[in-house]
Amino acid sequence: MRSMSQRATTATASAVADHVAPPPPAPGAEQYPALDFANSLLTLPSGPLDLLGGPEAASGWLVEHGLAPEAGRVLGPCTVRLRVFRGAVRELLDARVAGRPAPPGALAAVNEALTAAPAVALLRWDAEQGLHRSLPHPADRIADRAMARLAADAADLLTGPDAERLARCGGAPCSRFYVRTHAARHWCSTRCGDRVRAARAYARKRAEKACGEGEPT
Ligand SMILES: [Zn+2]
Repeated sequence: MRSMSQRATTATASAVADHVAPPPPAPGAEQYPALDFANSLLTLPSGPLDLLGGPEAASGWLVEHGLAPEAGRVLGPCTVRLRVFRGAVRELLDARVAGRPAPPGALAAVNEALTAAPAVALLRWDAEQGLHRSLPHPADRIADRAMARLAADAADLLTGPDAERLARCGGAPCSRFYVRTHAARHWCSTRCGDRVRAARAYARKRAEKACGEGEPT
C-alpha cells in the first residue's frame, strides 16, 4: 500500500504533467485529422505549445497522422507553410463556431491547398514494376500533399453533419476545437473540465472567506 506522501507525490507529478503536456486528442480529432491539425497549436496553463514547432516535430506529426511516408521529412520553409495553413484552418473553424462569415483569406488558402497537390495516384510504367500507381513527386511534395488532404478533410468537416456540433473549449486558457458529443459538453477534455471546476471552487471559497471576515460570530 502506498503511503500518503507517495500518493501526494504521484498526484503532484500528474498535476505537473497536466500543466505542460498536451491532453489526449479532443473529441472528433481522431475522426478528422484537420481538427487535430488545428489543435496542434494549443495553450496549456504553462503557456503556448506548438506541436509543429520545428521541422522534426512537424515531420513526426505528419508521419504519425499517416500524412507523410515513414521516412518523410519536411524542412524549415515547409514547416512555416504548414503553420500558416493551420492558421487558416483555425480561422475557418472559429468563424463556423461563432456563426460568422468565412474569412475570404482562409477560404482561399484552403482552396489553394486543395488544388495545388491532387492526392490522386497516377498510372505509371517502369521496367522494374511494370504498370503501377504512385503519387507524383513523392520526394519533394510531402507538405503540399499533406495540406491537400488536410484541406479536403477540413472541407468535409465544415460542410458535413458534424459542423453543427463544432465547438471551442471553454476551459481557458485552452483554445482547442472539438466535436460536441453531447449538448452539455463544454470542454475538450476532462482535464480542462477539472481545471475549470477547481478554479470555480477556489474562487467560491475565497469569496466565502472574504464575506466571513470581520463578521460577528
Ligand atoms: Zn480544453
